[in-house]
Amino acid sequence: MADAPVDSIVSVPVAIVGAGPAGLMLAHLLGRAGVESVAVDTRTRHEIETTQRAGILEADVARDLVETGVSDRVLREGHEHEGIEVRSAGRPYRVDFKELVGASTWLYPQTDVFADLADARARDGGTVHFGIRDTEVAGVTTDAPRVRYTAPDGGRHEIRARFVVGADGSRSMCRDLVPEDRRTRYGKEYPFAWFGVLAEAPPSAPELVYARSEHGFALISQRTESVQRMYFQCSPDESPDAWPDDRIWETLQARVAGEDGFRLKEGPITERTVLRFRSFVQEPMRWGSLLLAGDAAHTVPPTGARGLNLALHDVKVLAGVLVRALAGAGEAALEEYQPRALQRVWRAQNFSSWMTGLLHTAPGASAFDLRLRLGELDNVVGTRAGRAYLAEQYTGWPTREH
Ligand SMILES: Cc1cc2nc3c(=O)[nH]c(=O)nc-3n(C[C@H](O)[C@H](O)[C@H](O)COP(=O)(O)OP(=O)(O)OC[C@H]3O[C@@H](n4cnc5c(N)ncnc54)[C@H](O)[C@@H]3O)c2cc1C
Repeated sequence: MADAPVDSIVSVPVAIVGAGPAGLMLAHLLGRAGVESVAVDTRTRHEIETTQRAGILEADVARDLVETGVSDRVLREGHEHEGIEVRSAGRPYRVDFKELVGASTWLYPQTDVFADLADARARDGGTVHFGIRDTEVAGVTTDAPRVRYTAPDGGRHEIRARFVVGADGSRSMCRDLVPEDRRTRYGKEYPFAWFGVLAEAPPSAPELVYARSEHGFALISQRTESVQRMYFQCSPDESPDAWPDDRIWETLQARVAGEDGFRLKEGPITERTVLRFRSFVQEPMRWGSLLLAGDAAHTVPPTGARGLNLALHDVKVLAGVLVRALAGAGEAALEEYQPRALQRVWRAQNFSSWMTGLLHTAPGASAFDLRLRLGELDNVVGTRAGRAYLAEQYTGWPTREH
């Protein structure tokens, strides 16, 4: 970091790079424990709030939003889902979470989670700087790391902290601060992507519908009474512009069609995006005074709806660890973070990768492989043990307290 003069210097116990769900929830939890933080983000609040991402929360995550005082809006505007429908070769199978494992999930978009967290920070007097640029982090192998950034008005500022948390998402710059010879990156790329759309239409189903047919994968999700979110498998090189509304609806209808005559309710498509995805984990999640959380440390394919939940689990653990470390427990507390976070990370990696393989068709797969996958899907939806496994993984795992 250049030691050029800066326009201001603030000192706080924790500096947070990235004010997405992980960064803001961490700031909120620290604030509740009386630990001050400053969070910075390169995007504006409006940009983050209008980028469509995850939509499914584990019940524990929804409860945490309410019980930690972020907001109870999830209870008023979210929808509790007691299961999902899996359509295999045109046949519908309900995976009843409540009946199988006594659990549920909440449909509550990430954009709303983010808005609630940003509002809570503003309400509680927390400091978050959106729309900054040129983030620099230095001194992470010392007890006095620093973050520098340029504010939207061009001023250059410095945050001095005891800890820096890298919550800067899947293209994290913070994770590069762990030296190459001291870090391991695990992962794999998938040879397919999701074509995601937002449609102005009424819901076609009360819960999420995951479909695998000879035409390929589709996921039917919801947003509001008049806006729906849907995805179908496509090539990673697909161009969104090559897909007029008619072609999108024809593709989606073919993938969900079946013996029960199920049809999607159609309407104008207002957004189309191709989402490439991968499985990725970087270890270690801590390097000196730097701790990584959320997508900065790990990303999962979206099939199992784990990414956002995992990010929020990381910071739940991390907040407790940082509070204890700052209160004097030091190293002993810090050492707990990675093992407790990683246990869930690898469970979620396994589940997300498994569910992705189960429901997608890899280009060039042999006829034998295809039939094996169909047999596996039949084993999952056609047996109680299979459905219970899916239900347990999909709804999440309890957080270990220590
Ligand atoms: C298009 C898309 C669709 C998705 N769909 C689903 C889904 O359906 N289900 C699911 O569970 N998950 C989904 N995910 C994953 C989920 O959205 C993420 O797991 C979740 O956002 C992780 O939260 P985070 O706070 O760790 O990272 P992010 O939400 O990515 O937040 C990181 C923040 O850091 C900021 N930042 C980056 N670099 C810097 C820097 N140098 N300086 C300062 N700030 C910086 C970014 O602007 C960003 O706001 C999706 C992800 C994407 C990209």
